[in-house]
Amino acid sequence: MSTTLPPNREETDEVTEQDTESALATARRQLKQAAAHLDIDENIVERLNHPARVHRVAVPLERDDGSLDVFTGYRSQHDAVRGPYKGGLRFHPHVTEDECIGLSMWMTWKCAVMDLPFGGAKGGIVVNPKKLSDDEKERLTRRFTQELRDAIGPMQDIPAPDMGTDAQTMAWIMDAYSMQEGETTPGVVTGKPPVIGGSYGREEAPGRSVAIITRLACDYYDMPLSDTTVAVQGFGSVGANAARLLDSWGANVVAVSDVNGAIYDPDGLDTHDVPTHEEEPEAVMKYDAPQKLENHELLELDVDVLIPAAIGNVLTEDNADNVTADLIIEGANGPTTTGADKIFEAKGIHVIPDILANAGGVTVSYFEWLQDINRRRWSLDRVNEELETEMNTAWESVKEEFDTRDVSWRDAAYIVGLRRIAEAHQARGVWP
Ligand code: GLU
Repeated sequence: MSTTLPPNREETDEVTEQDTESALATARRQLKQAAAHLDIDENIVERLNHPARVHRVAVPLERDDGSLDVFTGYRSQHDAVRGPYKGGLRFHPHVTEDECIGLSMWMTWKCAVMDLPFGGAKGGIVVNPKKLSDDEKERLTRRFTQELRDAIGPMQDIPAPDMGTDAQTMAWIMDAYSMQEGETTPGVVTGKPPVIGGSYGREEAPGRSVAIITRLACDYYDMPLSDTTVAVQGFGSVGANAARLLDSWGANVVAVSDVNGAIYDPDGLDTHDVPTHEEEPEAVMKYDAPQKLENHELLELDVDVLIPAAIGNVLTEDNADNVTADLIIEGANGPTTTGADKIFEAKGIHVIPDILANAGGVTVSYFEWLQDINRRRWSLDRVNEELETEMNTAWESVKEEFDTRDVSWRDAAYIVGLRRIAEAHQARGVWP
């Protein structure tokens, strides 16, 4: 296992225009902006500009034909002042070290906004999982786990699903780790199948929290759900669950999309009939809708609420001017660039950030971890009730900052998270 040293203070102070789109640059800008609103020791802010550790590992994979390929894997562990590192693992061809660091910073804030006793981490392998057989995926995952063995653990760092990984991936990690440790250790990952200690409701949780936050935001802006039109980009676990819940709560979901394009019905889609990515991959366009659109056209539809729930950086300076929704609820991690954020602010479009809106995923991960370490199982009703309570509490904390300061919803959420993290650092002090 190799550890990459983060760049030093001089190298990180200036963020160049060219960096604008990297998750790390965006995360650092957002940190700087939020810190300016709070009276925080600047040394703590400087500490938070850097991940505590970044693990980079080579992951050899014997292909089904007997040949060997070596992939690169990362795990960025950003900050653990409030508890063990926590965050997803993605298998995607565009995974980079900087992306993992930026996403691990977002996990630190996300856990703090939700007041969970976790810090932030993120990792992944630079690989296109669509080009691997199931057997190859399993071997790759088990070897990655072996390489990260000293870095992860139920009290140290707890991975979860993210783009390109799922409950099965988590089951392989849990098994590989448990075999190495010599004891069954369900708490080493979350998002597992319920039969081996996964939590009911974990898979739907990020989409459920997006729906809950959409409802609370609509309420705040006096937009009755029954009069609200919604467009959702992405029909995977986050987008489809959010769309279906909002649909069943009375909202008018008029457009959804997947990688192939979007379907649009101004009278509302029956979202339960549109196949989700899990039900039939990339089949949204097969649905018989009155209009088919390009994916980018969905983002510019005249709707009340836009939910980008696919990938990062889809709302940029290039298309932000064409967005006409009143409210944007971030289902994906980092769908809005800093430039787009500024345009939305000037246009009076409110953006409810990812670190609040999709935080139901890591919140139910916390419930799963609690169930694992206590060897207890919660019912689905209990999970959903407790999730509802946690989302309401987090919303109230963020709303209080939004109402009392002249800031965006993103800054308000950062202020809540950052204050909790800074207070914890202050109380613990820096080890000399
Ligand atoms: N990958 C998810 C996220 O970005 C979940 C992380 C977790 O449950 O640890 O929030």
